[in-house]
Amino acid sequence: MSDIEFIRSQLATHPDFPKKGIVFLDIFPILRNPIAFETLITHLTHRITSTTVFKSPTRKIDVVVGLDARGFLLGPIIALRLCAAFVPVRKRGKLPGQCVSASYEKEYGTDVFEMQADAIAPGQSVVVIDDLIATGGSAKAAGELIAKQGGKTLEYLFIIELLFLKGAAQLDAPVYSVIQSE
Ligand code: 5GP
Repeated sequence: MSDIEFIRSQLATHPDFPKKGIVFLDIFPILRNPIAFETLITHLTHRITSTTVFKSPTRKIDVVVGLDARGFLLGPIIALRLCAAFVPVRKRGKLPGQCVSASYEKEYGTDVFEMQADAIAPGQSVVVIDDLIATGGSAKAAGELIAKQGGKTLEYLFIIELLFLKGAAQLDAPVYSVIQSE
């Protein structure tokens, strides 16, 4: 079994969660299995060090941005392995100090993402991490926050990409997903 097949085999599906008609893909079983979690983190880190990093003028990733909330479970570990900073993007009102903000469309109305205003320096090379890309709205808002600070997003990385929602088309940099779901 390949690493990707192994990671895929750990996913759980929950029909009608969080509401009727939605099939929720659950990544938490991966985190319950240390071998699977290690395989996932190594896979994503290897993608960055073998491919993404060559888009950076300095051949280094300066910042890993993780999205509220499951991006916080992956981003700090990958950032440590890259010797990069970890920067969280959070829902409005959760971060102290001066923040930059960007709104995005949710199923019902809009939501606002924030990042601390001094988190990224102009010209820094950034990758964005989250568990899943659906419509791409939340990743797009994160990309706007990075651009507002003069950062350069090199790639958006996810465990799962819902291809039929075409979220990648919304973004200002390529998407890498470990698992694609039709
Ligand atoms: P988007 O903004 O791309 O439409 O939605 C992506 C966000 O919704 C991510 O932060 C992701 O965590 C969450 N999300 C939406 N559907 C699912 C799902 O089926 N499983 C998981 N794990 N997260 C989901």
